[in-house]
Amino acid sequence: MNEKKIKAYVLKNSIAYNGKANPGAVVSSLFNEGLEKSKVKEIMPKIKKIIEKVSKLNLDKQKKEFEKIKEIISERKVREGLSELPNAEKGVVMRIAPSPSGAMHVGHALTASISYVYVKKYGGKFYVRIEDTNPENIYEPAYDLLKKDSDWLFEKKAKIVIQSDRMEIYYKYAKKLISVGKAYVCTCSGDEFREFSKQKKDCQCRSFNVKENLERWKKMLDTPPLAYPDKSSKKISTKGKKGFGEGEAVLRFKSDMTHKNPAMRDFPLARINLTKHPRQGKKYRVWPLMNLSVAVDDIEQKMTHIIRAKEHRDNAQRQEMIFKVLGKKYPWAAYLGKWHIKGLRLSASGITKGIKEGKYSGWDDAKLPTIQALKKKYKPEAFWKMAENRGLSEVDKVIDKKEFFVLLDKFNKI
Ligand SMILES: [Zn+2]
Repeated sequence: MNEKKIKAYVLKNSIAYNGKANPGAVVSSLFNEGLEKSKVKEIMPKIKKIIEKVSKLNLDKQKKEFEKIKEIISERKVREGLSELPNAEKGVVMRIAPSPSGAMHVGHALTASISYVYVKKYGGKFYVRIEDTNPENIYEPAYDLLKKDSDWLFEKKAKIVIQSDRMEIYYKYAKKLISVGKAYVCTCSGDEFREFSKQKKDCQCRSFNVKENLERWKKMLDTPPLAYPDKSSKKISTKGKKGFGEGEAVLRFKSDMTHKNPAMRDFPLARINLTKHPRQGKKYRVWPLMNLSVAVDDIEQKMTHIIRAKEHRDNAQRQEMIFKVLGKKYPWAAYLGKWHIKGLRLSASGITKGIKEGKYSGWDDAKLPTIQALKKKYKPEAFWKMAENRGLSEVDKVIDKKEFFVLLDKFNKI
């Protein structure tokens, strides 16, 4: 790491903090330049020495110094713009897939904006797909909040799709996968199946034929009387049931029990969950898991390009397997590293808790980094430009809260 680069970051941070740089923040910036964690100890004295020197200059002098060397740090990317997507000339179909756990915060907005910027660039369709096929952990106001956020951030151009409204389509695909011998109903317990997977062995359910599996799938869907024992109970009564109960069966994708990545071995596609769904009520008891519902929607909605967080790489591989057995070509895909904005609270559960306890007045509380709060000050373009500036990078980015907002302010003015 050369001294000039360190000095540039020290000056940048120092200017943002009224004349005194923070060593930790400088180190964070250097991580984005490829500094390895193991080298931090070694480089720290050097950083501190430079901070000391720089802090002796007044703010004006620091700004002048920074002007001289600022082009050596990564901000030049601002002018580079977005890289081109392959096969996009005729337009693209892209999506983001928020979970209904709360409203959007800056992290969501930045990940989502990059896809939207591409749709704007090439023309095409943009979907906001609310992934609500897990009846548990749904925060009911999220449906409205996400629509509001999308309308603002994407100029009312996004098509909102709610997965739980599309259950029959997922059932159709589940049946199709069973019919081509690529899915089976497994009645082993979670522990039993994990043991089979560990030993790379087939469970007994894997040997059932298509006809038997179709019957077993029917038993999964076979709805018992949906009576609630009392109004306060969120669980559906299974009294008088003929089919499988909750936890008694899952639909699995027949991949390969010897796959070198255990996460790929006959992963589950659908399960029974009797929790009452906030939007669908008691209508369904078998719920697709994300790899099934996401693959089905990406096929049905004819996705051309997918950009998502890199933690979804395993899921993408599973979904690609589903595409393949259905004779479909998987869309072009890219993965994004995480933005870690130091000092910002970004967990939906933390925010909802804070709202409940009265710590925040609502999702638009000025203390929160949510779109609801930030839209009072920023234009949607600020988020698009910030996402564009980041580009399709898989590297995790650590950025200090203050530095982040200095940058966002800058994009807000362009
Ligand atoms: Zn089994």
